[in-house]
Amino acid sequence: MKVSPRSIITIIFLIIVLGSAWFALSRIELNSRQNVIKSLHTVVQTTQEALHIWIGQRKSDLMDIANEGEVVTLTRTIISEHNNHQDVINSPSLKKLRRIMAKEMKKQAAMGFFVIAPDRTSVASMRDENVGSENIIHRHRKEYLERVFAGETLFIPTIYSDVPLKTSSGELRKHQPTIFVASPIRGDSGDIIAVLTFRLDPSSNFTRITQLGRIGDSGETYAFDYGGLLITKSRFDHQLRRVGLISYENEGILSIRVADPGGNMLEGFISSIPPKKRPLTLLAKSAISGLPFHNIGSYRDYRGVPVLGAWVWDEALDIGIATEIDAEEAMRPYYETRFTIIFVLFLTVTLSFVLLSLMLRLEKRTKEELTRAFTKLEEKVEVRTKELKESEGKFRTIFESSADALMLLDKTGFIDCNNATLHMFRCKSRKELLGTHPIEWSSDTQMCGSKCTSELIEENMTAAFHRGHHAFEWNHIRSGGEVFPAEVLLTSLYMDGKKIIQGTIRDISKRKQAEKELASLQRKLEQFSYQDSLTGIANRRMFDQTLDCEWSRSQRNQQPLSLMMIDIDFFKQFNDLYGHQHGDICLISVARALTSVSKRVTDLVARYGGEEFILLLPETDAKEANRLAEIYRNKITEQQIPHESSEINDVVTISIGVSTTIPSISTQPASLISAADKLLYKAKKNGRNRVECA
Ligand code: GH3
Ligand code: MG
Ligand code: MG
Repeated sequence: MKVSPRSIITIIFLIIVLGSAWFALSRIELNSRQNVIKSLHTVVQTTQEALHIWIGQRKSDLMDIANEGEVVTLTRTIISEHNNHQDVINSPSLKKLRRIMAKEMKKQAAMGFFVIAPDRTSVASMRDENVGSENIIHRHRKEYLERVFAGETLFIPTIYSDVPLKTSSGELRKHQPTIFVASPIRGDSGDIIAVLTFRLDPSSNFTRITQLGRIGDSGETYAFDYGGLLITKSRFDHQLRRVGLISYENEGILSIRVADPGGNMLEGFISSIPPKKRPLTLLAKSAISGLPFHNIGSYRDYRGVPVLGAWVWDEALDIGIATEIDAEEAMRPYYETRFTIIFVLFLTVTLSFVLLSLMLRLEKRTKEELTRAFTKLEEKVEVRTKELKESEGKFRTIFESSADALMLLDKTGFIDCNNATLHMFRCKSRKELLGTHPIEWSSDTQMCGSKCTSELIEENMTAAFHRGHHAFEWNHIRSGGEVFPAEVLLTSLYMDGKKIIQGTIRDISKRKQAEKELASLQRKLEQFSYQDSLTGIANRRMFDQTLDCEWSRSQRNQQPLSLMMIDIDFFKQFNDLYGHQHGDICLISVARALTSVSKRVTDLVARYGGEEFILLLPETDAKEANRLAEIYRNKITEQQIPHESSEINDVVTISIGVSTTIPSISTQPASLISAADKLLYKAKKNGRNRVECA
């Protein structure tokens, strides 16, 4: 069985509470018992003291009686007569003494008297049979009598009488315990002539004193002799009669032994042991054995009732004095306290349990609700986790399958990357890249020509952190050392509560190459659009644009601008004779020759169309232009390109029309061409292979 921690705590709490209560009750019980016994002991001591005072008084009174002149005289006479027993009995001295003693005995509540002669025989007594016999004290308490004859006045402890004696109630009983006070009777010279003793009845005299020492309803102080016989009147005679310890006409005194019946007789216990064979009570046993008083707790008294008691064994009186009280009465305050404590404890524990069970029920309900909420939450978490896993899976798939290099990094370096990144940087494993700083994968020289530094990288990352994203081009370096251009997009995001950067790197080396090629193509295209495809010299478009440009400049500077219109003579015939292909070759040769003549950078030789060429000569006046035209014409002739079908020569020749002008606001460039064209026509007309200028 599994014991819950709460049960253990409850059991511990109960043990502590009950243990504390038990401890407190034990202490209270012990204190109560000690207090009761202390009081009882005080009662015993007080009673003993009272007895001693009483005995002292008896001794003092006896001494006075013994020393009375008449008593001394009568005693002396009786002693002188006591050789004859009958004489003494009939002696008037004895009669007189008896009268005196009867009076004194009444005063002293004595039961009888003895005058003991030095030979230790009783010479005077109330009873005739005692006269002339050995004195009872001499028989049983010799040492005491000797001391009296030595001069002391003494109390003689209990002696059991040999003959039946009258009790205080007047009945005659055998073996009655009796006590004496004895005092010496002195003659005129102070010598002890006899001893006077008074017989006292312990049952009447002691009872009076002990009755004063009763406490409570059930308290009893009593005296007992060395045989355990009660020698004071019992307070419980009616109870003793009821339980059959004494007969209805009898008294407890002198017929009750202070013996333990073995059970509470008042509650109906009947002992199988006869009264005389019963063991003495714990108190009587302890007292008679001479054990000093100590707290012995509760024990059964002679009725079998549990009592608390205290005792003293009086050596002088040779009796035990005890005081007892029913344990039930003595401990009543304790039992009431105990009841109150147990009741309060019971209430507290019951209330605690009720509260605890209420709390447990409440807690159980709360727990159940919590469990339900927790289960729901767990289900939600499970669904969310699944969604998250799926989303993470999707993200990972997208992340991994992206052609772009994707990575996560913080300021310390790369923390994650996809396969495309490894492929891009030619890394064999993630280990090679993860944990490294971007500077290790950056080229020393960047796009803008600046040097790559960690500060520059930091700047880019900070820009991404601030703006959310930052795009730029970057020269990266692969594992093998190869530098490649890349387009980088840094996006800041939160992961696990930390701001990090997601980087996308796209290798743009192919694009850059394509751009380069495109640029070169464009350049070529541009070139081609201004170039004559056959001859490779400037075409008409180039010429038109240059003319406009030079026209404006010449106009601004008011400088002469000359123009030559050149046409190959009888070229149709050339084609017809040598074929079109050779015609093209001729055109190329003419163009090359014309270009070779031109020395100034600003001069432009262009193919104007068909077999016509045009020459623009900025800052060239008509004279110079004419001179140059001759040089051009001669240059072509010098080429010695055979032309057998020419009507004017056997080599290819050209005709040139030269026009010159200083452009004005009112004139147009077309006028310069038109003028040259006209002059060319003139040159043709005038025989060809010639120059015509205005
Ligand atoms: P002229 O100018 O002396 O009066 O006589 P022509 O034969 O040269 O005059 P025309 O203008 O009638 O003929 C020009 C010829 O040039 C016609 C054409 O066959 C030829 N031609 C024009 N363009 C080209 C070309 O690109 N290649 C070749 N092979 N021939 C061309
Ligand atoms: Mg022509
Ligand atoms: Mg021609």
